Amino acid sequence: MTRRDYDYIVLGLGGLGSAAAYWLSREAGADVLGLEQFELGHARGESQDHSRIIRLSYHTPAYVELAKQAYAAWDALEKESGEQVILRTGGLDLGPRASAIPLESYSESMRARGVPFEHLDAAEIMHRWPQFRLTDDIQGLYQEQSGIAMAARANAAHQRMAREHGAVLSDRAPVTGIRSAAGEVDVEAGGRTYRCHRLVIAAGPWSNGALAHFGLELPLEVTQEQVTYFASPRKRDFLPDRFPVWIWMDDPCYYGFPVFGEDGPKAAQDAGGRRVTAETRSFEPDPENSRRVRDFLMRYLPGAVGPEIHTKTCLYTLTPDRDFVIDAVPQADGVFVAIGAGHAFKFASVIGKTLAELAQRGQTEADLSPFTIDRPILKEKDPPRSYMV
Ligand SMILES: Cc1cc2nc3c(=O)[nH]c(=O)nc-3n(C[C@H](O)[C@H](O)[C@H](O)COP(=O)(O)OP(=O)(O)OC[C@H]3O[C@@H](n4cnc5c(N)ncnc54)[C@H](O)[C@@H]3O)c2cc1C
Repeated sequence: MTRRDYDYIVLGLGGLGSAAAYWLSREAGADVLGLEQFELGHARGESQDHSRIIRLSYHTPAYVELAKQAYAAWDALEKESGEQVILRTGGLDLGPRASAIPLESYSESMRARGVPFEHLDAAEIMHRWPQFRLTDDIQGLYQEQSGIAMAARANAAHQRMAREHGAVLSDRAPVTGIRSAAGEVDVEAGGRTYRCHRLVIAAGPWSNGALAHFGLELPLEVTQEQVTYFASPRKRDFLPDRFPVWIWMDDPCYYGFPVFGEDGPKAAQDAGGRRVTAETRSFEPDPENSRRVRDFLMRYLPGAVGPEIHTKTCLYTLTPDRDFVIDAVPQADGVFVAIGAGHAFKFASVIGKTLAELAQRGQTEADLSPFTIDRPILKEKDPPRSYMV
C-alpha cells in the first residue's frame, strides 16, 4: 500500500527542491517525500545543463555571506556523496569603468566580508588571459574561488543522496491541490492525497501556480533565456585550467564559461530573453539573442567564436528586485517557499539546507531578511523592475 503520511513534502525537484529533499532527509530520512511533475532531470525548468557560475563576488555583503555558506553546503554534499560538483576556475567580473553594474558594490561587499580579490586593469587582464581583446577603459575584479557548479550532476547527487537517506522521490507526480489546516497540509498529486506537517515549495517558473493554492500571486516575470556552446577553433585556450568564468558587468550583461560538458566554451546574455510562461515558452532559440552574444564575443573574445555546437533554452523566474524569496508562506501553517530570481543555482544546496532548517526547527542561521515574501516590492501589482545587479 502506498504511504500517504510524511513529516515533510517537497513540491518540485529542480535545483532547490532536490537540495531541500536532501537536507531534510539527512535528519528525517524516510519521512521525506519529494514530488516532481515531470521526470527527474527534465529540461523544462531552470536547473539543467552542465554548468552554472558560482562565485563569492556579489553586490551586497549579505549575498557574499550566503555565498560562503553555499560553498560549505556544496562541500558537505561532495564529502557525503563522494562526487565533485564544484570546479574552481577563478572568476572575472569585468566591464567599462562607468558600467551599468558598478564593480564598486562588488569590491566593497567582498572587502566587508574578508574575501580576497584582485582589481585588474585591461592590460593586466589581457596579460593573464590573452583570449580577451579589451580597450583601456575596461577594468575587472578577479576572485580565485569562482568557478562552475555542475548543475545536472549536483541535482542528481542531491537526489541520489536523499534516496540513500530513505526519502521517497516521486516523478511524474504533478501537485494539483494543496490545503493547509490545523498544522497539517494535504497535498494532491498524481491522483493521490498525501498529508504532511511541513511543505516546502520550490516550483521555479511554476511558483505562482503553487502559491495560488494559498490565494497568493507574486509579481514574478518568467523569461526564456538561452546559452550557446561554440566549437572554438582555439578550444585549448578555453580549457578550465587556463580560462576563468566571466561576467560582463554592463547592460546588456553577458557571461561565459570555459570548456565544460561540451566540446567548446559557453556564453550567454543574462536576462536577455522575452517574457513567457512555463506553458507558452518554446524551446527555439531567439536568433536576435544569439546574434548579440556572437557580436559581443567577436569584439571581446574572438577566439571563442566558432560554429554553434548548440543553443539551449531555459527559464528565469525573476522577482522585480532580483532578490530571492525564502520564507514561510503567510497564513499557511507549516508551508515554506523558495524562488531563485534567476541566479540561485550556486546557492541551491544552502537554500535547500535553509529550507530544511526552517521546516525542521522554525529557524535558520542564514540571514533571510532580504528575501521575505511580504517585502513592499512584492506587494505591488506592477512594480519597477531592475535586473542589472
Ligand atoms: C540559462 C540560465 C543560466 C543560469 N545561470 C546561472 C548561473 O550561472 N549561476 C547561478 O547561480 N544561477 C544561474 N541560473 C539560475 C538558476 O539556474 C536558477 O535560479 C535555479 O536553477 C532555480 O531552481 P529551482 O529549483 O527554483 O527551479 P526549477 O529547476 O525550475 O525547479 C522547479 C521544479 O518544480 C517542478 N514543479 C513545479 N510545479 C510543480 C507541481 N505543481 N508539481 C510538481 N512539480 C512541480 C518543476 O517541474 C521543476 O522541476 C541560470 C538559469 C538559467 C535558465
